[in-house]
Amino acid sequence: MAIASNLGYPRIGANRELKRALEGYWRGNTSGADLRKVASDLRTQHWQMQQMAGIDHIPSNDQSLYDHVLDTVAMVGAVPDRYDWDDGTVDLDTYFAMARGVQDEDKDVSAMEMTKWFDTNYHYIVPEFKRNQNFQLSSTKVVKEYLEAKDLGIETRPVILGPVSFLLLGKTQNKEFNQLELLDDLLPVYTYILNRLEEKGAEWVQIDEPCLVTDLNEEALKSFHKSYTALDAATTDLNILLATYFGSMEENMETAFALPVDAVHLDLTRGLNQLEKALTRIPDPMSLSLGLIDGRNVWKADLSEQLDIAKNAVERLGKERIMIGPSSSLLYVPVDLEQETALDEELASWLAFAKQKLQEIDVLATAINDGEQAVEEALETNRQAIISRNQSDRIHRPTVKERVESVTPEMYQRNSEFAERRKQQREHLNLPDLPTTSIGSLPQTKDVRKMRAAFKRDEISKEEYESFLKEQIKEAIRFQEGIGMDVLVHGEFERSDMVEFFGEQMEGVAITSNSWVQSYGSRCVRPPIIYGDISRPEPMTVKWSEYAQSLTEKPVKGMVTGPVTILQWSFVRNDQPRWKTCNQIALAIRDEVNDLENAGIEIIQIDEPALREGLPLRQSDWEKYLDWSVDAFKLASSGVKDTTQIHTHMCYSEFNDIMEAIARMDADVLSVESSRSRMELLDVFKDFDYPNEIGPGVYDIHSPRIPETEEVSELIRKGLNVLSKDQIWINPDCGLKTRNWDEIKPSLEHLVEAADTVREELQNGEGP
Ligand code: GLN
Ligand code: ZN
Repeated sequence: MAIASNLGYPRIGANRELKRALEGYWRGNTSGADLRKVASDLRTQHWQMQQMAGIDHIPSNDQSLYDHVLDTVAMVGAVPDRYDWDDGTVDLDTYFAMARGVQDEDKDVSAMEMTKWFDTNYHYIVPEFKRNQNFQLSSTKVVKEYLEAKDLGIETRPVILGPVSFLLLGKTQNKEFNQLELLDDLLPVYTYILNRLEEKGAEWVQIDEPCLVTDLNEEALKSFHKSYTALDAATTDLNILLATYFGSMEENMETAFALPVDAVHLDLTRGLNQLEKALTRIPDPMSLSLGLIDGRNVWKADLSEQLDIAKNAVERLGKERIMIGPSSSLLYVPVDLEQETALDEELASWLAFAKQKLQEIDVLATAINDGEQAVEEALETNRQAIISRNQSDRIHRPTVKERVESVTPEMYQRNSEFAERRKQQREHLNLPDLPTTSIGSLPQTKDVRKMRAAFKRDEISKEEYESFLKEQIKEAIRFQEGIGMDVLVHGEFERSDMVEFFGEQMEGVAITSNSWVQSYGSRCVRPPIIYGDISRPEPMTVKWSEYAQSLTEKPVKGMVTGPVTILQWSFVRNDQPRWKTCNQIALAIRDEVNDLENAGIEIIQIDEPALREGLPLRQSDWEKYLDWSVDAFKLASSGVKDTTQIHTHMCYSEFNDIMEAIARMDADVLSVESSRSRMELLDVFKDFDYPNEIGPGVYDIHSPRIPETEEVSELIRKGLNVLSKDQIWINPDCGLKTRNWDEIKPSLEHLVEAADTVREELQNGEGP
């Protein structure tokens, strides 16, 4: 029989129960016992539901109180020294100290670094390894949770992050050694855990090695061989499913199939191209796990199409060697479509969230095992949904398609080259050297959030809400004028989120009410769903920018989110390539930018913080992605006059490897995050002559710290070592919405003072 399998279920709960419990615990309102109870209730609920849905291989240890990579850190005792851990079991407080840092009277310890998990919007805690790192079993969570399910009468397949991916995802200080050297010391902890699981009766274990879909060197490939040989030697009856996901294994497949494991999982949503090769190469009697249901997106699967794929595999290998499951864990999709209230029935009929995806898996497995007639009704309903989506005129809008088709090459280019534009902008805008500005948002205070919530609940009228926003804008403008900022912002008080705000106002995009996905820890996001051809019926931001500009003689910067970022932080339709959807968004943003210009806004920032994170996992795919994403930005930004100054902003990442692509975006001014990793960022400009203007952030907004004027001046001077004084802008490194006014008032004051100081030095010829 083919096995219905799941790789992981969302942890947070359909009503974000775990989020509430976690935040309660951190605030001191919820006890550790209560927190554990909420988590275990969720586990019970999830296991029972999967059992009822007909899943044969149900995952355990997929739940986590913060992050599964951090769980692995705890499992192997790789707790960094600064947490003063006593080598025993990693307790809750040590665990959360690693996740979030601790700051109280007698302790001030920073959190471990967090970064994006492959190309998802989920963040993991980055393991930190030191030379001669010692590993020891320090958490038996995986065994405990296996037994917890067993007590409920449910046999599960524990999931653990594989040793090679675990090491590769970590970092060593200053890259001082290669972390794969630690493998020999790490493996005993893994073999011990597998032994315990086997002893407790586990039949299968799922070991995730997502790094197998990335570019790997010879040494990494050898590490796989070494690891799985050791794990195999240590176990007798325990079967290992080696799970790969988020792409195709390509040249790494030989390595995977040569390992002594019992099954290999393939992502066939993103890596269907690897199936044929896998069917030919897979050694007998290894099983193949088919990742047919998309774990990264919200669309219903085309079940008859997926069934054909499964049937082909069954014909070649036999039912006994086939598992049917999602492409990856279902962590990346919302929990349950039934809980969503903001979507209309038709749109909802095209979607499947985690719970619905379990049913899809069951239908496919049943069709294979018992014949299609056994699930005839489900297949027919699915067919209808697929047809309805294919043909809907909510999705296919000829005017939008025609407009994208008729885009001409000139539309991707500003009228003049940067040098010419710069001359015109200098005359026109009359800014000093080292102009000061901020990135857009100002503190989203309790008041701002309260008023927005009240407005959304219809408790206050639109007039009341808007006049409140205008007050906020007025104060913000007064403040910025008061401290002598050169280019002002309106503050983005009207936005809850930089993507949702635009999604709400564009056609072809749906906003959800309860479709939360974990971003990190207790943080969840509600990505918009891009379901159809996109247009912008009306201006989205003009009213606010125009109002702000009416209050001051200084230029106010218009503020829009760029097409790549809107794409990247949404669930995107899967019936056309992403670049096509991106171009449609780009045209909508272009209209907005042009309208801002027509309303008298002379500086417009198009934020693209997500450009870097959209990079494909394989370097060979980078160029294509960078081509279309840079083009989308240019399409959005090139409809304006030479005198209009286009800014862009990027953050959260290293840009060194894509600096050339960023330069091709040809924004007049680029602001980037750099105050924390300032040296690294500035290093790029030694080798790469960035042609346009640039503001390397000189105030780290991620920390509550208020920088002293002299600190900021020093950073500016450092910047001037590699950038010219006609080129450099002075700004914080990101938006200020998460900070409060008490922090940003002195900080921005110091920033302006620092700019003044260095300007003076330059005038006196004292500059670097
Ligand atoms: N303009 C946005 C803001 O200031 C940019 C946010 C971001 O970079 N993520 O909030
Ligand atoms: Zn930013």
